[in-house]
Amino acid sequence: MHEVSLAESIASSLISLKKERGWERVVEVRLRIGALRQVFPEILCFAFETVTKGTELEGAELSIEDVPISFRCRDCGGCWGGDDPLCPECGSMHRETVAGNELEIESLEVEEQT
Ligand SMILES: [Zn+2]
Repeated sequence: MHEVSLAESIASSLISLKKERGWERVVEVRLRIGALRQVFPEILCFAFETVTKGTELEGAELSIEDVPISFRCRDCGGCWGGDDPLCPECGSMHRETVAGNELEIESLEVEEQT
């Protein structure tokens, strides 16, 4: 259940951002989460709703964009996605992960104080 602690840390960083920038309300939070993070979006949304209930973030919408895993071959430079551990071009196992580790706030929609 690391979704709950994730939701808590998102909420607490949002609360401090909100204070710092003087936002009236956070309307929507869009996250990018890589497949390697093994986060269940529905659980994270539910956890976020739960941890923000009764706080100044209550009602903020969480939307999640899944980022699939992709690798780049260190030998031939080819890129591929999915679970294949070997480069489909040259069969090398020298790969680096170029996507799938994301865990970031992509954008926020807020209401400014009037
Ligand atoms: Zn290769």
